[in-house]
Parts: sequence; structure tokens; C-alpha cells
Amino acid sequence: MPAAGLTITITAGPTREALDPVRYLSNHSSGKMGYALASEAAALGARVRLISGPVALPTPPGVERIDVESALQMQGAAEAALQDSQVFIGCAAVADFRPAAVAEHKLKKQVGEEQMQVHLIRNPDIIAGIAEQSQARRANGQPAPLVVGFAAETRDVLRYARDKLTRKRLDMIVANDVSTPGLGFGSDSNAATLVWRRPGQANDRLHEQAIAACPKIALARAILERALALHQDGALHGAANLNMATSAIDDQETP
Ligand code: C5P
Repeated sequence: MPAAGLTITITAGPTREALDPVRYLSNHSSGKMGYALASEAAALGARVRLISGPVALPTPPGVERIDVESALQMQGAAEAALQDSQVFIGCAAVADFRPAAVAEHKLKKQVGEEQMQVHLIRNPDIIAGIAEQSQARRANGQPAPLVVGFAAETRDVLRYARDKLTRKRLDMIVANDVSTPGLGFGSDSNAATLVWRRPGQANDRLHEQAIAACPKIALARAILERALALHQDGALHGAANLNMATSAIDDQETP
């Protein structure tokens, strides 16, 4: 089993940001990509922790699921998972902003009130925080997870993804064009380009691998194979102080 002995933590689905006890801001993320990753990671033999926003999907067999609603709850669960994870994959569509205050009681409309203003504040960038802590741990010689993010874009996909990889200090990013009908959001298929830098080698050139449109489960497998190869690469070279896999897959595709 290529991922035996590894713990893989995955965030999935949307977050819900409460306005009052009955209303929230959210998005249309179905959670399908994150759940496909969790299912494949378990099939590869990993211990899988799935930190999930509210979705209408069953928990894949053998997966430990932690349900959260808000970005702050997701961040808490993600940070608690940092220390014992060898791979962290941020697949969730985290709301960028949340209401500055959550009303204690249901907000009531007033007679004659034609407009309402909601003050929003920025949510933390969960994966950037995880990647920063991971880099700091590596620098101290402590085990730290390989960090994989997603970039769903409607134009200039690769340019934004490369920028995001560097800005968020990720090890790998999955870039996908969500403007193509039938792919991405809510669909069962996706196409993507994986962009990565070898762990612990900040000045290394970027490597890329295009994956043609395929079922999300097949894309999940390709993402995990690349992540496991990078994890093993980091562990073998000691550069990243990633936890050593007891058995990891061979890196079959040399970029
Ligand atoms: O910046 P953008 O939302 O496009 O970045 C997408 C990536 O960052 C995804 O991996 C997503 O899970 C992660 N993210 C996060 N916390 C946020 C926003 C995005 O972890 N607040």
C-alpha cells in the first residue's frame, strides 16, 4: 500500500459564515473533489482525516471525518492536524470574508427598510497558515507535512496558480480552469495542471504536469501519486524533514 503509515489531512466543501442563528453566507462547493481525494487516499492505505464543511456526500469508507461550518472552525481543526500529518491538502472553498458580528437573535426587517448593510471581515487563509507553520517546522528540523493547495480560476489559470504557489508557500498546487462547461464545480469530472517545487528547495524551478479531463476520482489518484512521490523525495533527501514513509510509490514521471 503506497500510503501505508501516512496520515493525510484534507479540507473539503464550502464554509458557512453565520449572519444570525438562521442565516449564513456560503458558496456552491459540492465537496466532490475533496471527497474523491479522501476516498483515494484511504484506498492507497493512508489514515485519512477529512475536515469537511457542510456537504451532501457520504463519508468514504475508512475515512475519519470532522464536520465544521465556519472558516474559523476549519482553521482550528486544520491546525490541530498539522503535527501528525505527512500530507495536508486544502481543497475546501473557504469563504474569503465573514460577517463582522453574528447577531444573537434572528435579524428582523423593519417597516420601510429598503437596504441593509453587512460589515464583512477577512477570514484567515487556512492553507497559507498551515504552509507557513510547515516551512518553519522544516527549518527547525521537525517533521512537517507536504502542503498541497488548489487554484480554481476562470482565466490565466497557470499564471495565477504559480503566483499562489509562491505567495502561499505551498509545495504543490492543483490549477484548474472552472470556466469550462461540464468540468470543475459540482461536476464529476475535472482537468488540471499540477505545479510543484521540490520540498525544502525554495529556489528550485517549478515543475508541471497537465492532466486531461477525467473523472474526479482519477484526478484525485494523480494528485495523490504526485504528492506521495514528493513526500518521499523530501524524506529521502532530508531537505524537508518530512516524515519518512514506510513505503511510498516510485516517482514514475520525471518532469
Ligand atoms: O486564494 P484562493 O481561495 O484562490 O486559494 C485557494 C486555495 O487556498 C485552496 O487550496 C483553498 O482550500 C485555500 N484557502 C484556504 N483558506 C482561505 C482561502 C483559500 O485554505 N481563506
